[in-house]
Amino acid sequence: MHATRLVLLSLALAATVSAQSPSPQASRAPVTDDFVALGPLKPLPAPVAAAADAIRADALAAHIAMLASPAFEGRGLGTRGLDATAEYLATSLALAGIPPLAAPTAGPATAAYFHPVPMREIRARGGELVVDVWQGDTSSSRTFRHGVDVLLPESGPEELTTPVVFAGFGVRETTPARDDYRALEVKDKLVVVLGGLPAGAEWQTPDLRARYDPPGDDRHAARLAHALAAGARGLIVIEPPDFPSQAARQAQEASPVVFLPYHRDAVWRPGVVRVSAAAGDALLATAGLTTGTAASAEPRDLRGITVTVRATGEERLGVSRNVVGVLRGSDPALAGEAVVIGAHMDHLGRRGDTIFFGADDNASGTASLIEIAKAVAASRARPKRTIVFAFWTGEEEGHLGSDHYVRHPLWPLDRTVAYVNLDMVGHPWKPEEVRQLVTDAKLPDAERFLKATPAADFLEVGLAAWAPELAPLLVRAAQGTGVALHVDRGDGKGGGSDYRAFARRDVPWLRFFGNFFDGYHEPADTADRLDAGQVRKMARLALAAAWLIADR
Ligand SMILES: [Zn+2]
Repeated sequence: MHATRLVLLSLALAATVSAQSPSPQASRAPVTDDFVALGPLKPLPAPVAAAADAIRADALAAHIAMLASPAFEGRGLGTRGLDATAEYLATSLALAGIPPLAAPTAGPATAAYFHPVPMREIRARGGELVVDVWQGDTSSSRTFRHGVDVLLPESGPEELTTPVVFAGFGVRETTPARDDYRALEVKDKLVVVLGGLPAGAEWQTPDLRARYDPPGDDRHAARLAHALAAGARGLIVIEPPDFPSQAARQAQEASPVVFLPYHRDAVWRPGVVRVSAAAGDALLATAGLTTGTAASAEPRDLRGITVTVRATGEERLGVSRNVVGVLRGSDPALAGEAVVIGAHMDHLGRRGDTIFFGADDNASGTASLIEIAKAVAASRARPKRTIVFAFWTGEEEGHLGSDHYVRHPLWPLDRTVAYVNLDMVGHPWKPEEVRQLVTDAKLPDAERFLKATPAADFLEVGLAAWAPELAPLLVRAAQGTGVALHVDRGDGKGGGSDYRAFARRDVPWLRFFGNFFDGYHEPADTADRLDAGQVRKMARLALAAAWLIADR
């Protein structure tokens, strides 16, 4: 799973239940429909049940142990560990009798399974922010360097020169009422804002702090969204006084290579440029403000100032690969349509001698997908629609593999009836978390639900809010594989895993995800901490749901 998911999670936790379900259909749906307590098994169609039963915990554990072993070096993008992973998965598909989807190519037997994913590799990143002050015909200029007074976002070599405006704290809220963009023309400009929140207790609520000052790398996501929605090219955030030491450390610790999508927008939007108070003072000087006095100042044009954001670095073309196989549907009338099931195979690789094993993230989903593919392929009765199996590359670097796939799909997206995602399926919910969920949802009969449902048998599955017709199939899959269920409806377009790419193309999606845990994105995400029985529950549920959708 990509790290921005954590930010979204903290935003979601701070929001109300209805705010998590933005679609009108979802908020009208009775809450009880979205909770299925553990109950007696309701039989699935025989081939579906047999395939689900064929998924074994020991086989899942063996794949996870292999993929999360030191030999695969944490499966980092651009490394031989990920190359070896791709070969392992292509071979697994071939052994299962699942042919490649791509056109046959010359070369080794596994070559046709590989879907090339071009990307930009950036090394030796640097850059600067130049503040030019014009007074009459004369100008003066100051330069602030990346890693000293400035932190530039990840990008290739790019440059942007533009006027700037000052927009207070960059907030737009109705309660408390404040719109820092009210009187500003920001189109195609960069917006200078202060980090943090305005003075006053009414701004120090958990909800507002979670929105404007969350932990993690995407702290200014909400502020940036306001700026971009208003038509600005990006945001310059003036950070607190301790920022220069932070900038130095972050620039030093930054990964030596950054991977960016091959596709780039015609216009560069630098996103969030973070600057020190010294750089802030230079930006605000002609307006008669300082970083200190700006907190109580009205938003305004910063006349006479132009800013140049210059990102430097060495860029070259890199190529990674998705691994894709296909099982044709058994019904001639429906085989032209497909369900795509995907899991990302990459993880964070290694830093020096430290390997990030990524057992849960996402050897668990990868192993599940291998076993699902094997079980469906081994069945004598096939699903009516076609099933496409996809192992994605570059998820941890920003969903590069799945984003590339939806731009260059191997199966037409308008004939893809659903996308099923498996990412981090190995850690269960804790009893108190299930209790909190049913309490927050105001579930009638919550106590009965909790009594009937051990946390270990409770699974939450995300579902595209615009595909309510898939919910009954998901419920049936849960009742047929013996688990309790919560259906978490959402739009997924800002999602933290590969379903995001499909959501943005309006393909109905399902998201299988277990729980965060204290080793998330740490070297401690190891195979011995995973419960293969838990992975098996998820894999069985995902298989049954995908098959029922394919037969629908
Ligand atoms: Zn991850």
